[in-house]
Amino acid sequence: MDTSPRLALSLFQLLLLALVVCVALGTSHDLVAADKHPVAIVVHGGAGTIRRELMSPEIEAEYRVILTKAIMAGHNVLIAGGSSRDAIISAITLMEDSPLFNAGHGAVFNHEGNIELDASIMEGRALNAGAVAALTRIKSPIRLANSVLDNSPHVMLVGPGAEVFAQQQGFDLVSNDYFKTDRRRLQLERIIAQEQSVTLLPEISDPLLLTYQFDEKKLGTVGAVAIDQNGDIAAGTSTGGMTNKRFGRVGDAPIIGAGTYADNESCGISATGHGEYFIRAAVAHDICARMAYKGIPLQQAQDEVVQEKLVKMDASGGVVGVDKDANVAFSFNSLGMYRASINKQGELVVKIFKED
Ligand code: ASP
Repeated sequence: MDTSPRLALSLFQLLLLALVVCVALGTSHDLVAADKHPVAIVVHGGAGTIRRELMSPEIEAEYRVILTKAIMAGHNVLIAGGSSRDAIISAITLMEDSPLFNAGHGAVFNHEGNIELDASIMEGRALNAGAVAALTRIKSPIRLANSVLDNSPHVMLVGPGAEVFAQQQGFDLVSNDYFKTDRRRLQLERIIAQEQSVTLLPEISDPLLLTYQFDEKKLGTVGAVAIDQNGDIAAGTSTGGMTNKRFGRVGDAPIIGAGTYADNESCGISATGHGEYFIRAAVAHDICARMAYKGIPLQQAQDEVVQEKLVKMDASGGVVGVDKDANVAFSFNSLGMYRASINKQGELVVKIFKED
């Protein structure tokens, strides 16, 4: 395969990438005191049919830069002694604000042409959790999920009620237009045209849309998992769900135990993929439970669920996780997953394709 286009990043992009990597590595060594728990963090930006040959070098560079920024933002919180919850929130909000991902600004459209957002967060010390679904006006759903965890006796708030709660908590509401992008609108138009058996679909020329033309319904959910200096694990996930969703459809991302789970006794997990299957397979909880009950390593527990259980169900997607000993792991059964980690040795990894 001709790899020369991969080298065609502009000088500016290469410098930017080199800079963020150097800063990440330069700030990540031995900054945690020996009597503190080692820290680690992992993020994802969705799993799916991510093909190298469909991705322009510019788009690839953009993804690598934002993944690096997100993982570094979270890791900086951890090495400064901050909580795993704050770490994952800073990583996830960066990705919610980026139009590259199916979360916050840039999320997918529902059937009516609007954006409905879901998110959840969990902390593994007391097994506290907060979740929100079908939000239409909250800029950062992960922050509202966090506020539900802290300030509500409930675990999950949905729709207009969640937005009343948000206002009471001092959140500013934004217009639904804030989340909308032309490329996601085009995705919806193409899916509706396909449903109506229209043969002449609207053309795709946008380089980002070309990269996910085989995953027009979803791709780009974001999530993060971290362990802090107290040994506390937190996991969170944020998404727009699936393009063309109807009837108040909610996926796995805000379902505790499906898209998100954290338990200091085992691990934390954030998932991405076809939500209906991830709910039925109770993916995130099952991985933590396998670690706890079978005494197996994180990577094995993730692989058992993603590469065996989900594959048997014909479901595709992936997970990222951190265990109680600060080991990090990725597992996915799709062609790629946007992902990054900084492990307990301070080593930075940023990957997109399976063969990365
Ligand atoms: N899991 C998300 C959902 O089904 C979509 C995704 O992760 O791509 O809502």
